[in-house]
Amino acid sequence: MSWLTDIINYILPPRCLKCGKPLVTNTGLCEECFSEINFITSPYCYKCGHPLETDSFSNAKMLCGRCARRHNHLFRLSRSAFAYDEASKNLITNFKFCDKTENARFLAQTMFVAGKDIFENGIDMIIPIPLHFRRLVVRRYNQSALLAHELSKLSNCQAECTCVIKHRHTRPQVELSGLARVRNVKGAFLVKYPERVKNKRILLVDDVVTTGSTLRECALVLKKAGAKSVDTLTVARVI
Ligand SMILES: [Zn+2]
Ligand SMILES: [Zn+2]
Repeated sequence: MSWLTDIINYILPPRCLKCGKPLVTNTGLCEECFSEINFITSPYCYKCGHPLETDSFSNAKMLCGRCARRHNHLFRLSRSAFAYDEASKNLITNFKFCDKTENARFLAQTMFVAGKDIFENGIDMIIPIPLHFRRLVVRRYNQSALLAHELSKLSNCQAECTCVIKHRHTRPQVELSGLARVRNVKGAFLVKYPERVKNKRILLVDDVVTTGSTLRECALVLKKAGAKSVDTLTVARVI
C-alpha cells in the first residue's frame, strides 16, 4: 500500500508536529525542531533515569546519589525520552490539551527508544495512568492511554487500560507543589481487577513526570494488588 501512502503524502504532506513545516517523509519533527529537543541520553542513572553530570563514560550501571542510598526501590527502572522544557513544551501541551492526538505515534517512538532497558528486561503489561471519568469526559481522550496503545504496537506487549481506575477526582498536579502533590493523589487510584496484575511485570506510562507523586501512588496500589514489578516510562521529565 506504499503507493497509497505516496498519494496521501502528495495531497496532504506530513507536517512537523512542533512548527507545522511540511516534511518530505513522516519523521514527526523537522530537522531543526528535532535538534532543539533535549533527548535524555547517556550518562543517566540506571535506576531512575535522571541525567548524570559526569564526563567519565562507563558501560557500568551508574546510579545517582539518591538511588545509591535507597534500599527499597518502588520502581524497577524509570525512563523518560526527553526533558520537559521550552523546546518540548508545546509538543506535550498540544497533545494533552489541544486534540493533537496524532503526536502520540512520534512520542511513543521516542519512548520506545528511551525504554530500551525496560523492554529488554521484560514486561507483561503496559498500563497508562488513568484519568478520572470527569476529566475524560471533558478531554474526550486519555493521552497516556494513546501512548500505551502505540507502545503496545511497537513492543508487542498488551496495553491494559481498564484494570486501574482513578476513582477520586483530584486537582491538576500542575497547580500544586511538593507535599501537596502527594496528598492530592493519595488514595486516588484503584485496581479494579487485581487478578490481572498479580505476579505481572507492569510498565506504567504517563506523559510528563515532575515529582513522580502520581506514578508512585499508582505503583503503590499495583504492588498492593500483587504486581511483581513496576517500571515507569514517560515522554518527558522536569529536570
Ligand atoms: Zn519543525
Ligand atoms: Zn537515580
